[in-house]
Amino acid sequence: MARKKRILLFASKLGYQTRSFQAAADKLGVDIAYVTDRCSHLDDPWNDRALPVHFELPEGAAGAVLESQRGLSVDGILAVGDRPTPVAAYVARGLGLMHHHPASVEACRSKLRMREVLRGVGLPVPWFHSVPLDPLPEPTLLGITYPCVLKPISLSASQGVVRVNNRDEFLAGAERLKRLLQSPEVRATRERHLHEMLVEGYLEGREVAVEALLTEGSLHVLAIFDKPDPLEGPYFEETIYVTPSRLKPPEQQVIEKRLLDSVRALGLTHGPVHAEFRLNDHGVWPIEVAARPIGGLCAQALRFVLPETGETIGLEELLLRHALHLPGSDAPREAQASGVMMIPVPHSGILEKAQGEQAALSTPGVTHLEITARLHDFIAAWPEGSSYLGFLFARAAHPDQVEIALREAHGKLHFTLTPRLPVEHPLSHALPPADRI
Ligand code: ADP
Repeated sequence: MARKKRILLFASKLGYQTRSFQAAADKLGVDIAYVTDRCSHLDDPWNDRALPVHFELPEGAAGAVLESQRGLSVDGILAVGDRPTPVAAYVARGLGLMHHHPASVEACRSKLRMREVLRGVGLPVPWFHSVPLDPLPEPTLLGITYPCVLKPISLSASQGVVRVNNRDEFLAGAERLKRLLQSPEVRATRERHLHEMLVEGYLEGREVAVEALLTEGSLHVLAIFDKPDPLEGPYFEETIYVTPSRLKPPEQQVIEKRLLDSVRALGLTHGPVHAEFRLNDHGVWPIEVAARPIGGLCAQALRFVLPETGETIGLEELLLRHALHLPGSDAPREAQASGVMMIPVPHSGILEKAQGEQAALSTPGVTHLEITARLHDFIAAWPEGSSYLGFLFARAAHPDQVEIALREAHGKLHFTLTPRLPVEHPLSHALPPADRI
């Protein structure tokens, strides 16, 4: 009997994010070994026997992974989420498996390095500076023009990204970003670059996201998503993604070409890629290129059809097939339009109640809804936040119908978030009553 193929899956969050990978692996008859950076002293709460490592020390972590895999067969590597991508790349290199080069992945992990690389090959990038946060230099001496965007160098999900329109907003935004980067939650990630920020020119225009796979340098675009909500700041929480894009085919070709130029510049060669672009009268501007698939539950918005059998598979199965060199990773996306809404967090608070789920689900076109925020947990709004209340999915013949369905269903959802009471404050009972959205 042929040996079962085995893949190493690197992920920060285990649970809902990796469950679909496990289901796809079971279906394909392949084994997944998980590598995570959750605390090693925890007693395997998910019973997944994941190997714990520190993602922020990629080379050391890769050494530990390689040591643990000695004598075991590994046929493929996959990383989900930004943080594990460098470790995964070093491990792939150590095992001689085809994957993006570690230096390329490291460049994608730093928004500053990415800008330098893209500018270096003449791709359009806004002006940018790396600026220390403490002490903060006087912005007028930095040659800054407004509006501009302040952002952390290595966080993700738009966390900490702020548009500012003048010097006062710059100072307030930088102070807020400094507080976020010094918060215990962010410091616990031990990310580098927590004492500086990237400041760059604000780019007008609409935005698209592109999901793609690279196979030995050749680019295969899986989907272009329109982001129909204006993303003009001051914060940049995502909302709706809809595919196929309603942009005209020549515009889509320019986006694909820009992605190809960007991945070539960064040296990405083999594995998933997720990228964001801004489009305006001056062209197609790479905002970010990440060496990983689309995040969170959004992958569920993508389904592919195996040409031989007509069977529909999810992105996770497609990625496993690709990483393990199984047939089918070139399957085209289904014909239907599809979309996801990352359910926005209107303001920070403790999630007391989520209502209207049945009504939202009964909206024509809506296929499913997952409220991922846990009741009674505190959830932070952007820019401090980085987790959505949940994910809403729709499918229809045309992307317009998908967008309408998502908006309508979202309108039926109500979340009750109460402010977190400052316990030590004697007047805490005087805080405003619970807001209902
Ligand atoms: P992250 O990796 O945390 O998502 P990004 O650099 O991709 O950070 O920025 C998040 C979002 O902020 C982008 O999707 C975009 O909407 C907005 N944004 C970032 N940089 C700019 C910019 N220079 N001009 C306009 N909008 C921007």
